[in-house]
Amino acid sequence: MYNETVMDHFEHPRNIGEMEDPTVVVEVGSGECGDRTKLFLKIEDDVIVDVSFKTLGCAAAIASSSMATEMIKEKTLKEAWDLTNRDVVEALGGLPEQKIHCSVLAEDAIREAINIYRKGQGFEPW
Ligand SMILES: [Zn+2]
Repeated sequence: MYNETVMDHFEHPRNIGEMEDPTVVVEVGSGECGDRTKLFLKIEDDVIVDVSFKTLGCAAAIASSSMATEMIKEKTLKEAWDLTNRDVVEALGGLPEQKIHCSVLAEDAIREAINIYRKGQGFEPW
């Protein structure tokens, strides 16, 4: 059902765990399989200098969160904002059709975290 890249990120998730001193923490849940993810971002000068996550969910949700955190690390907030679940699915080499929705969780978490940060800095949310 899952390709090798997805299995690798599921079995060896990157950037997993709680962060001690994050700038923003957000928890989002979604959908049909009840996936939940908690995302920790450390932000300095509008750059994501560190990122970690904890996901309670299916293999697709865990692999997507793992890949997404790799893709936003050391990126600007704008670059991270522009990352879509389609980019994540593509980087994973594809997900089964019925599991695509699980990859939206990571995108939602990243965008929500960025807007919480922006509001905290006195900016309009994107
Ligand atoms: Zn799922």
